[in-house]
Amino acid sequence: MGIKQIKLPDIGGFDSVEIIELHIAVGDQINLEDPIITLESEKASMDIPSPQSGTVSEILVSVGDKITEGSVLCSINVDEVLSDDTNSKDHQAEITNHDKQEDAVSARSADNRGEASGMKTEIKTELLVLGAGPGGYTAAFRAADLGKKVILVERYDTLGGVCLNVGCIPSKALLHTAQMLNEAEHMKANGVDFGKPKIDLAGVNGFKNKVVAKLTDGLKQLAKQRKVDVITGAGEFVDQHHLSVTKDGVETLIYFDNCIIAAGSQPTQIPVFPNDDKRLMDSTDALDVSNIPKTLLIVGGGIIGLEMATVYDALGAEVSVVEFMDSLMPGCDKDLVRPLSKRISKKYKAIYLNTKVSDIKPQKSGLKVSFEGAKAPEPQVYDKVLVAVGRRPNGLKIGADKAGIKVDEAGFIQVDNQMRTNVANIFAIGDIVGGPMLAHKATHEAKVAAEVISGMKSCFEPKTIPSVAYTDPEIAWMGLTETEAKKQGIEYEKGTFPWAASGRALGNDRDEGLTKVLFDKETKRLLGAGIVGVNAGELIAEAVLALEMGADMEDISLTIHPHPTLSETFNFAAEMAEGTITDLYIPKRK
Ligand SMILES: Cc1cc2nc3c(=O)[nH]c(=O)nc-3n(C[C@H](O)[C@H](O)[C@H](O)COP(=O)(O)OP(=O)(O)OC[C@H]3O[C@@H](n4cnc5c(N)ncnc54)[C@H](O)[C@@H]3O)c2cc1C
Repeated sequence: MGIKQIKLPDIGGFDSVEIIELHIAVGDQINLEDPIITLESEKASMDIPSPQSGTVSEILVSVGDKITEGSVLCSINVDEVLSDDTNSKDHQAEITNHDKQEDAVSARSADNRGEASGMKTEIKTELLVLGAGPGGYTAAFRAADLGKKVILVERYDTLGGVCLNVGCIPSKALLHTAQMLNEAEHMKANGVDFGKPKIDLAGVNGFKNKVVAKLTDGLKQLAKQRKVDVITGAGEFVDQHHLSVTKDGVETLIYFDNCIIAAGSQPTQIPVFPNDDKRLMDSTDALDVSNIPKTLLIVGGGIIGLEMATVYDALGAEVSVVEFMDSLMPGCDKDLVRPLSKRISKKYKAIYLNTKVSDIKPQKSGLKVSFEGAKAPEPQVYDKVLVAVGRRPNGLKIGADKAGIKVDEAGFIQVDNQMRTNVANIFAIGDIVGGPMLAHKATHEAKVAAEVISGMKSCFEPKTIPSVAYTDPEIAWMGLTETEAKKQGIEYEKGTFPWAASGRALGNDRDEGLTKVLFDKETKRLLGAGIVGVNAGELIAEAVLALEMGADMEDISLTIHPHPTLSETFNFAAEMAEGTITDLYIPKRK
């Protein structure tokens, strides 16, 4: 018997966390893993389990106290007292410095593989993940959860890659601001005038940065909780089992059994443009909205260009868009793009289709842009120009050839459906393996790679990867598009439900939307769906699930959807195809 103090273990680097519940009283008999207290951090609430069995003899904390790692919670009478170093499983597991990690891995890797290349190996690991974007961190976390010793290498100080730092998340935070501004303006026609908004750009930027910081800090904690070792620096392959990581001139060599490349992509630059001129922006520059230009030209009418157009228009810029193809949002059916085109044609200064930017000349007064094309306008001067013409993979920048990894001319790495490259122990995922360059594709590929490396029989064979443009209105599509069905000669039946007949859309005063579903002519199984309208990005998920589950026309039309909702429009579109719709009149088919 002896008295043992129970201390708060490492819970992932939180400084001061509040106790919201106490689960023990003096005299209680508690067992190993019984909860002692519940803590609530900014992120979540968590129970702290007891590392020992025994009888509570003293409680040293109360509800409302803010505590940190090492704070004494209570004392218990235990049968056997362990030494301080081993009293907590969490503490015991907290051996994350590189030397200890090397020891641990060396113990598992009995041979001296680390001495390869005649270079001194400083660190060894079972799995190295290169790049900490959504692909990289997901792969690292999944592999750690499956018991692998993982090192995650990232050149920047924050985790999260493009998506969290300069992509999906900051753009959506800005789009939320844009949406609020647009809705407030829209309500004028319906009896509520909020007046002219006062926009504090530092506040708008600050909100966006706060959202990004919350998520990237969260990733740091998640890595720590899983004992994933993060090494900051630029990585380059040395051979099939080694990566060299350089930070501030200091080089670390890492030996790995397996590697997952998740080094992502970066914005495409057009070499003949004045790329050093600060007024010429890429998507990363454009996410800093501390300065809104009076006039802005967006080169590229795809998803990223049109999302940023939505933001800058709402924040007061006079926006023009130029697109090389004959329609905005190439790849999406034209009937889905139409409601967006109609709305933004009224709001924006100009939309030039079938038009190419041939030259941009910096001038004191702005950037002088020349255009080419049948209906090209005369050269014009803009305060700023955003180039959003696509992204190119980083495959040619990581020394892949030294590891024998095949990379194509564009920088893409080819993989099989288990995310394996041509080199047996090296896998690749995310933007670097090809399109669609989307975060949700990267995360699912990541899990497959981590699972295959851990001995599971996983493979990446989704029926579809949905696309969403978070414009106003939003456009979302999945599965087969109508354009593609026609091109491939696939016979289909179509149901289209106009939102003008949706009570919910009318109540929102946003009835310009459309929900379209395509079914196989023979089997009536769902082939594809597209939605344009407010919240289309949320609504498309149901269609993705229906496709994955092999749902047919009747499955969708007989599934009771809540009324009045925009989700009903998916149900109604199937009824349109089936001929059972009652919310609209369609003349009988002969
Ligand atoms: C403005 C914008 C908006 C977007 N919006 C969306 C959206 O709404 N939804 C969506 O699904 N997708 C969106 N995307 C795309 C999405 O961000 C990417 O598809 C996703 O980030 C790809 O993930 P990844 O893990 O493959 O690579 P990345 O996120 O590019 O991460 C790769 C990481 O590897 C690191 N790295 C590269 N080379 C090295 C090296 N040699 N050494 C060390 N580290 C290295 C990079 O620093 C980076 O952190 C958007 C992109 C942009 C630009």
